[in-house]
Amino acid sequence: MAQRGPVKLSEKKHRKPCAATQPASCLCPWASNQRKLGPRLTSLTRNADDRNALMDEKLTEQPFWQTKKMTDMSREEWESLCDGCAKCCLIKLEDEDTGELEYTDIACSLLDCNTCQCGDYPNRSVKVPDCVTLTPENVQQLNWMPSTCAYRLLANGENLPWWHPLVSGEEESVHLAGMSVRGRTVSEDDIDPTDLEERIVTWPEQGK
Ligand code: SF4
Ligand code: SF4
Repeated sequence: MAQRGPVKLSEKKHRKPCAATQPASCLCPWASNQRKLGPRLTSLTRNADDRNALMDEKLTEQPFWQTKKMTDMSREEWESLCDGCAKCCLIKLEDEDTGELEYTDIACSLLDCNTCQCGDYPNRSVKVPDCVTLTPENVQQLNWMPSTCAYRLLANGENLPWWHPLVSGEEESVHLAGMSVRGRTVSEDDIDPTDLEERIVTWPEQGK
């Protein structure tokens, strides 16, 4: 996504919501449909045992993400693709006129900002209705996913980066490489809704 210069006042007036449904808990200052929170995550959990098993498999044969179509992957394989960066759990803003998206450093209220894990993954869709579940079918349409997202990379025919836990063999590598949101966010529970635009950041799409 192209980065933008300083937001002009006229643009601010027209800034509008992303396409997702506004959650019941949203504290948005612009009522009803004038502005919504951007779409959120998807597949932010992996079972560590599942991943370890898949990493063992990787050592002996060509890894599944290079040989299988997304639609042919098992649920465990699909879930293990998530690198745990949690960038997709950040609130995003969409320009009403241009459709351009911008990330903020505000995290979903359910995200544990220290571990980058969803606080209630099984019930996320109930607690956060605009949390979108990523599937092989919708991955191509979700243009708001960060460019570093493993699902987006594979959908675009690219390979996983060195810091992806499936490649590195280390759960921490995504954090150590500075590719996650860990330690860089504030919870939406702690933010004044009128300050959303003050929290726009570019690092989620800069890859660092
Ligand atoms: S952006 Fe992609 S890889 Fe990162 S947490 Fe979200 S679904 Fe997982
Ligand atoms: S509900 Fe969980 S998975 Fe969904 S955006 Fe929030 S923290 Fe992320």
